[in-house]
Amino acid sequence: MKFLTAKKRTLLIALAVISALIAVIILSIVTAASSAVAPNGMTVVIDAGHGGRDGGVVGTTGVKESEVNLGIAKSLRHFLTEAGYKVVMTRETDTDLAGGGGSFKQSDMRARKEIIENANADLMISIHQNSYPRKDICGAQVFYAASSERGKAYAETMQSVLNGTLGSDRVAKSGDYYIIQCSETPSVLIECGFLSNPKEESLLVTATYQQKVAYSIMTGVRVILEEERAVQPSSSA
Ligand SMILES: [Zn+2]
Repeated sequence: MKFLTAKKRTLLIALAVISALIAVIILSIVTAASSAVAPNGMTVVIDAGHGGRDGGVVGTTGVKESEVNLGIAKSLRHFLTEAGYKVVMTRETDTDLAGGGGSFKQSDMRARKEIIENANADLMISIHQNSYPRKDICGAQVFYAASSERGKAYAETMQSVLNGTLGSDRVAKSGDYYIIQCSETPSVLIECGFLSNPKEESLLVTATYQQKVAYSIMTGVRVILEEERAVQPSSSA
């Protein structure tokens, strides 16, 4: 698999970050709906982590990760749909997907896997929030499955975009998470921020910041699926 040269990728990401930053400033001033573009033929699965009986990690104020995940996931669906993507959500309400046999978590994860596989998507994004004993730790972190070269390249691009737009300074990492390993769909898991950091938590619970995060992720998706693919060389280089 051939991906962009580091130089080209850096330039693309820098341009995308600049335009996303401008858009986020405009977003914070007006929340007017822009006109949707024609479908681009690409599909993205958005997985809002946890839900229902599984709230995920809990913030310093008691906010549940599952609620923040769903807020960002819905906002991301809005931006991706407007950009011409078909979006498939693993959940749209504060519910879990358990119901079959096996343990609660196994049943919930199997249902998500089935949705991802049936979507035949170009990309799967699982939305989560982080938590850590040290309260000063903050910032968005992107994970990929170690077995997926494409997932790694996508995660690195997404991390660079989020670092630029959200002011984080992290490196994409491989992560042993079922959701990014359970299908052939190129997948990334995004821990958007730390609910254990009071300052970051106070941002993550607001609709405005959730929109900013979602817009940043949408920008990352566009760099990955439109710009990188468009300039991907067909011959070896
Ligand atoms: Zn989580």
